[in-house]
Amino acid sequence: MCYTQFLDADGTASGELPDFARDAQELRAMYRLMVTTRLLDRRAVSLQRTGQLGTYASGLGQEAIGTAAGFALRDEDILIPAYRDYAAQFKRGVPLQNVLLYWAGDERGMAYEREPARHDFPLSVPIATQVPHAIGVAYAIRLRRQPRVVLACCGDGATSKGDFYEAISCAKVWDLPIVFLVSNNQWAISMPVARQTGAQTLAQKAIAGGMPGEQVDGNDVLATRHVLARAIARARDGGGPSLVEALTYRLHDHTTADDARRYRAEDEVQAAWARCPIKRYKAWLEAQGHWDAAAEGALAAEAAAEVEAAARAYLGQPADPPEAIFDSLYAELPRALRWQREQVRARGPLGDGH
Ligand SMILES: [Mg+2]
Repeated sequence: MCYTQFLDADGTASGELPDFARDAQELRAMYRLMVTTRLLDRRAVSLQRTGQLGTYASGLGQEAIGTAAGFALRDEDILIPAYRDYAAQFKRGVPLQNVLLYWAGDERGMAYEREPARHDFPLSVPIATQVPHAIGVAYAIRLRRQPRVVLACCGDGATSKGDFYEAISCAKVWDLPIVFLVSNNQWAISMPVARQTGAQTLAQKAIAGGMPGEQVDGNDVLATRHVLARAIARARDGGGPSLVEALTYRLHDHTTADDARRYRAEDEVQAAWARCPIKRYKAWLEAQGHWDAAAEGALAAEAAAEVEAAARAYLGQPADPPEAIFDSLYAELPRALRWQREQVRARGPLGDGH
């Protein structure tokens, strides 16, 4: 099974780096996205801890994968994200505050106005349900003979589900322009990978689907972008589907409703921090002369201001009326639900007719 890594945990590079690694401006943009995503993540957790946000799934430690995906896709491609793929969504034009709105249970968090995010899917919380949906999207692309590719994202836990196997089976049988990106963060809530599959790797599940599969160091943003871009280009050129397993680690609890200290050892988490994607990438950028303390200071201030503005925009958003819960279910609401909607509307925001 092929495994790609350019940057080790210290940020020392090896192997022949891809062409994009010569574009300093692009490299810095990738770093900015990773740092901004981590700051937004921290702000989201603190909003939840202070009762100002619903349950939130942190992407701490997985910033390189979303960033790599965002930069590997072309605008015309379609991102079908799992939760924790925030960086990819931000790169595609989803405003930071939309993620906060989403986890506050507000449908408007999924209303993406800007291109190219406008034609992407919202992030998916149910496990693996988005993967067969991605097959439908890729099938439509092929029917229309469009030169576009679907990036279907899921986690390690999703690969244990029937939805996943059905999707990889269809993908190759119909030779669809799709890339499956599996973020293996080692845990499906409290279930470690070793207890959910006997397979040595998740990438080898590609063999069952009859497509190429490979592993990449998901904490190495250069390697992950390179491997994804190659798989996406192959799909675009008619080379069919493939599967990329990005190896990473979930540094936070599963969600803010979880306490991972109850089921995993602290030394495992500490060891994972040593492989932090941001730390290694920054070290490499500095060694290349693309980054320094002044740039870091400026970014810290810019990103903090951006995240704060997003938090303020989110907190300042007037709440949707209660009957809005009916409004994104159907193109045309069935009669029984129309009646319910009217009852809820008549009762008002406090539910008591006032
Ligand atoms: Mg997982």
